[in-house]
Amino acid sequence: MKSVDTKVREIKLFIDGEYVTSSSHSLFEVKNPATQEVIAKVHEATKEDVDRACKAARRAFEEGPWRTMPVKERCEKIRRMAEIIMERREELARLEATDVGKPYSVAFEKEIPRSAHNLKFFADFIEQLGGEVYPMEEEYLNYTRYEPVGVAALITPWNLPFMLTTWKLGPCLAAGNTAVIKPAEATPLTVSLLGEIAKEAGIPDGVVNVVHGFGPNSTGEFLTAHPEVDLISFTGETTTGKAIMKTGADTLKRVSFELGGKAANIIFEDADLHKAIPVSIQAAFLNSGQVCLAGSRILVQRSIFDEFVARFKKAAEELVVGDPQDPRTNMGPLVSEEHYKKVTSYLEIAKQENATLITGGKRPSNLPDYLKNGFYLEPTVYVHENPEARICQEEIFGPVVTIIPFDTEEEAVQIANNTQYGLNGVIWTENLQRAHRISHQVRAGTIWVNCWFVRDLRAPFGGFKKSGIGREGGKHSLEFFTEAKNICIALQ
Ligand code: NDP
Repeated sequence: MKSVDTKVREIKLFIDGEYVTSSSHSLFEVKNPATQEVIAKVHEATKEDVDRACKAARRAFEEGPWRTMPVKERCEKIRRMAEIIMERREELARLEATDVGKPYSVAFEKEIPRSAHNLKFFADFIEQLGGEVYPMEEEYLNYTRYEPVGVAALITPWNLPFMLTTWKLGPCLAAGNTAVIKPAEATPLTVSLLGEIAKEAGIPDGVVNVVHGFGPNSTGEFLTAHPEVDLISFTGETTTGKAIMKTGADTLKRVSFELGGKAANIIFEDADLHKAIPVSIQAAFLNSGQVCLAGSRILVQRSIFDEFVARFKKAAEELVVGDPQDPRTNMGPLVSEEHYKKVTSYLEIAKQENATLITGGKRPSNLPDYLKNGFYLEPTVYVHENPEARICQEEIFGPVVTIIPFDTEEEAVQIANNTQYGLNGVIWTENLQRAHRISHQVRAGTIWVNCWFVRDLRAPFGGFKKSGIGREGGKHSLEFFTEAKNICIALQ
């Protein structure tokens, strides 16, 4: 199937169990990034629409039965959502590939199954959850309960729309909260289907609501300012996180932020390059580099520097850039014109900073005619000696990486930590002691040794420094989505 999807879908808001139109009748367009064809017209939620969604979520929370139903029953409905997602796997993967421009194969093989797993995992997890008991001698008994917090705003970016939304929705619902979801305006297609999926799974009306629109002075801000919203789980840019925190401050909302990154991928001279190179290519160019965990600063020990650069260049040039719907494609376009302009502005910055271009840096010349309007950029690799350069410091969020040489372990750690971000780091070495030593010294929320993007949903996920606030995953998600209550009983 080629990226010529001429169907223009109408995407409505999902409020209180029904798909409804915007109260202002204002619609915005969504384009296929591979072709620039309009693929959807989306109803923009006004302040009144957001208010209705938040009030529906509040009523569903207060009046039940979601919060009060037996945990097994609640979790069975969430698991049913996961099953429906797998039943609709192909459709969801096609839509995600069309909307985001990512290879269909990646959406089908990885992201849609992971989305189903996000829901199933948290349903299973909360069913197993106990509390604590603190006996005070013979006189009193304390025990804890983990109760839902209330109405959660779940706000997600455009790079992994369905996967990141379900990552939040799973623990939110399993804990007994209700949700108002706002996907990114560039990629609302798959997330908009969560309404009907929830309904089919028997989730009561008002528990899952989806509103569409923009961020500042629009749907996103109306949602984060709304007095009925108790907590905000947000994934996106660091600057947006700051704005959301300010807006939510007046009503003292609880926040969990997963923000930007600029991970160091450190290759020591004893690394197994047969493994390190293909995985570093993935870390650099998966989803056209539009991944918060991307290994976009590759630090290579000087003794193997030239060999690494030559082999990395060859592997980057072998990637197939093309139609996201084609199973041979490794890399699709960037998500939007606005984002393409941002990413390509760094090509000019790299020139001004005297970075050495190793490969890429332009539009691929061999694209077929029907992709001529797509926002394509070749996998682009620079070498730079100065880790302070803007291309080594700023999150480009595209298929652009910089390789930086280092001499000693101390220097590698110093460069790795010389950034405002701290989401993740990657280390390649065959030396066990060094692997542990460097893992402890790099200041980031996740360290992968001789691998990348391997996730166990029980493990904490989140960022140091400006890469986030709080952790999600396993019991960490449930800490965020629950209120711990202590109950003290007099025994005499
Ligand atoms: P943005 O921060 O621009 O947007 C994220 C979401 O927030 C969108 O739904 C957006 O709406 C909304 N939004 C924007 N402004 C506001 C506001 N003032 N109030 C409320 N909501 C608002 O991020 P991008 O979509 O550009 O995504 C890329 C970023 O996400 C990168 O920095 C990346 O590192 C980060 N990210 C982090 C991850 C992590 O786990 N740490 C994982 C994936 C991505 P709209 O799109 O309509 O403007």
